[in-house]
Amino acid sequence: MSGLTIKNLHVSIEGKEILKGVNLEIKKGEIHAIMGPNGTGKSTLAYAMMGHPSYEITEGEIIFEGQNIVEMATDERSRLGLFLAFQYPVAIPGVTVANFLRTALNARRRAKNPEDKGISILDFRKMLKEKMDLLQMDHAFAGRYLNEGFSGGEKKRAEILQMATLKPSIAFLDETDSGLDIDALRIVSEGVNALADENLGVVVITHYQRLLNHIKPNYVHIMFDGRIVESGGPELALRLEELGYDWVREKYKEVVAA
Ligand code: ADP
Ligand code: MG
Repeated sequence: MSGLTIKNLHVSIEGKEILKGVNLEIKKGEIHAIMGPNGTGKSTLAYAMMGHPSYEITEGEIIFEGQNIVEMATDERSRLGLFLAFQYPVAIPGVTVANFLRTALNARRRAKNPEDKGISILDFRKMLKEKMDLLQMDHAFAGRYLNEGFSGGEKKRAEILQMATLKPSIAFLDETDSGLDIDALRIVSEGVNALADENLGVVVITHYQRLLNHIKPNYVHIMFDGRIVESGGPELALRLEELGYDWVREKYKEVVAA
């Protein structure tokens, strides 16, 4: 099955061009890492994938499951199997983790098959327990209100559990630079490693190489000034760890000036 193809993507925020022609192809079964200095457009790419209204796509295509999804609403993209883990998830008091996940799962099932009656509560509970065991989570977690009073680590767990339940075919995990403690890093990496299979393509966005000590990407891309300027294997991340981003800035400074 096909994955996600981003072709010559240009994205503006409030009239300012942030992404200046991004090309990227992610197949199911692959793990990609997008790295790069702060402010180069990594999070912008993630938001543009989900169709955030502030991020205007001025040029290019996003082909997902054989369709150009540029004009598609966020929920439609989600039902089609695209997933974005939020950096700062919102709390929904009164809605339990389990209820939230069952509603989301049923929406995704109905998108695949309009006749779908939804998963039975019994089957859902069984499935959720299996996922929580896989992710080494306490079952009591399912009964808590979504993100209310959650620690940073618990929010990450809720995200990963959502991913495990919805089974997206392509997932973007934007691990932006603030608030990523070692615990959260470990939860995200273990979750991704537990869920990674031939039906899931993952894009991990990170400023820091250390996440990649736990997640082994097949491909590493460096974003600079709104473009992917280098692509390679895991050795590219090691090079960044060793040398930082200075060589990237030096090598591509004329691109920025142009
Ligand atoms: P990264 O994730 O690589 O650190 P971002 O995608 O967050 O970079 O930001 C890229 C650029 O877009 C930065 O120059 C940032 O200042 C700008 N930017 C991001 N979000 C907004 C916004 N909501 N309004 C205006 N400018 C923004
Ligand atoms: Mg960012």
